[in-house]
Amino acid sequence: LKAEEAEIAGKPAVTRAGRKIRVLVNVDDPSILDGLDPEICDGIGLTRTEFLFSKGPPDEETQLQAYETIVRWAKGRPVTIRTLDAGGDKPVPGVTLDGEQNPFLGVRGLRLSLLDRPLFRVQLRAIARAARLGPVKMMVPMVTAPFELDEARAELDLALAELTGEGLAHARPECGIMIETPAAALTAEDWDADFYSIGSNDLIQYVTACARDNPNLAKLADARNPAVLELIARTVAAGKARGVEVSLCGDMASSPELVPLLLSLGLESFSVAPAQVGPVKLAIGSAEGDVANGD
Ligand code: PEP
Ligand code: MG
Repeated sequence: LKAEEAEIAGKPAVTRAGRKIRVLVNVDDPSILDGLDPEICDGIGLTRTEFLFSKGPPDEETQLQAYETIVRWAKGRPVTIRTLDAGGDKPVPGVTLDGEQNPFLGVRGLRLSLLDRPLFRVQLRAIARAARLGPVKMMVPMVTAPFELDEARAELDLALAELTGEGLAHARPECGIMIETPAAALTAEDWDADFYSIGSNDLIQYVTACARDNPNLAKLADARNPAVLELIARTVAAGKARGVEVSLCGDMASSPELVPLLLSLGLESFSVAPAQVGPVKLAIGSAEGDVANGD
């Protein structure tokens, strides 16, 4: 199977019914890109920028260098950079708030960025400066209500105005949201987002009320729970209605056994762990009962 996976990884993914499916990769740490051929994917669907914050907040140049490396690697393919998703299962010393009773329901993801505007501004400036090199998409995590995206965009506008004033080369990135809360999934059509990416790890956690890091609840935290599938289907429908891309970048997308189910829900973009590109493309090419066209 390994040789077959390697061969298929180099080709575009197409279902038996002829639907073209995008397969992108998740980047948790840019060192995984060393020796990885960008030809195997349609771009980067998720960059988890938390790796940059392990020793405290990095300055703008440090972030810029990291983002530039990733954008150059992608050779013109889209690169989705997620703004800091600290909190919950990803505490960042010196950044996340101490003493929260329930960090998974606390100030995490974009909530934290909007609370610490100077920290957010540095990241937005670095993302916008890297966007001069290729199609960069900025993605905000853990959102609940549309005003959060509006506030993030307003911060982006301020960052862009600063860069213009300073004469620093940059470009405006697209601005999309992660669908990780039931509220965001149920209202997806109301958001002025340039794209959606379903974070199934958190979405499952919040729909099933099972902490994602609690192994005793693994059976209940089921990706196939009909409530989870309903929210994915609704998000796909919202994206089609608004004419914007819907991707899924949680662990679900990396599981070949779940690929037929996700295809049947109309999903056309999978962002997966680099090692899973071959297995997922193989599953896409062999899935039975594909919907001929999601439109
Ligand atoms: C998710 O929640 O599915 C996701 C992709 O983000 P993370 O796992 O980094 O929270
Ligand atoms: Mg998440």
